[in-house]
Amino acid sequence: MTARIIDGKALAAEVRKEVAEGVAALVRDGTAVPELAVVLIGDDPASHIYVSNKVRQTEAVGMRSRRFVLDAATTQRQLLDLIEQLNHDPAVSGILVQFPLPPHIDTARVVTAIRPDKDVDGFNPVNVGRIAAGMEGALVPCTPLGVMRLIKSVHEDIAGLGALVVGASNVVGRPMARLLLQELCTVSIAHVRTTDLERRCKDADILVVATGVPGLIRGKFIKPGATVIDVGITRIKSGAGTEKLVGDVAFEEAIDVAGAITPVPGGVGPMTIACLLANTLSAARMEAARSKAAEADVTDAAESTEGLGRPASRNLQRNDFNNPH
Ligand code: NAD
Repeated sequence: MTARIIDGKALAAEVRKEVAEGVAALVRDGTAVPELAVVLIGDDPASHIYVSNKVRQTEAVGMRSRRFVLDAATTQRQLLDLIEQLNHDPAVSGILVQFPLPPHIDTARVVTAIRPDKDVDGFNPVNVGRIAAGMEGALVPCTPLGVMRLIKSVHEDIAGLGALVVGASNVVGRPMARLLLQELCTVSIAHVRTTDLERRCKDADILVVATGVPGLIRGKFIKPGATVIDVGITRIKSGAGTEKLVGDVAFEEAIDVAGAITPVPGGVGPMTIACLLANTLSAARMEAARSKAAEADVTDAAESTEGLGRPASRNLQRNDFNNPH
């Protein structure tokens, strides 16, 4: 059997097209253009490339972007102040802080400081909790969101399928497992201390691998016909001063056993940024819906006071009364 290659570039282009249409619809409605604020600290060349890509793709779908490039010596307090300012800026739909952060900054503090409704990376504990509880309104981490779309390009319905996620990070493995569970897969998670990985992989109809260990998953680990999603990206030397990207799955072996498989590069990678754009649009839509609901509440409250001999504006004053300022 030769596996079907899942074309992440083509699916990412589809997602970007859908986002561009969604942005155009919001603009037609008179809602503000969605805007992504990207914050980058320090001089890491790879991070600068990622941020430039994100900004370029954001603008290509008709959204605005704002880039904040901060000195490596920026203090945690300065970064938190900037996030607070962006949290309160009504023009900003989504906030992304590019990782890794310098060691003097506490990543967990930063992740928690971003307002959950603008947390387009989906790392704030409120979004983590919403995903875990299967609640509406969660912003889902971009890579697992993209992986779900890749899986669904193969399977119409994944309920009841056995899924193994290899890797248990907060960025990929854990949210991935929660999304698969939400779709009623029977989910297991493997990690660095898992024993007998081969046997566990062999049981999986859907195998998602996110470890950063090149070639960890051999062809003989894979259940015939399984869908294999390789999230791993490692840069290795490929002779004469050149480098290439490889995944966590031994692709040339796996392709003879799997039913469908993502390549590296060209599989999960392109979907991640496309899903960042999708999350920014979702955040803007949710904000627009909240503003409309709040306006409707004010109108309803104003109407409900008419005939009671009180001016409609009293309701607004009551709200003001709750605000010490
Ligand atoms: P991480 O280092 O935070 O987590 C790695 C996980 O793999 C851990 O849970 C660890 O227990 C597990 N692991 C390590 N060695 C293992 C082994 N021998 N057997 C089983 N499990 C093992 O990494 P991460 O941030 O989750 O990223 C994982 C990989 O995915 C990396 O290669 C990263 O570059 C890539 N990645 C790609 C994208 C993308 O857009 N394509 C996005 C995020 C991460």
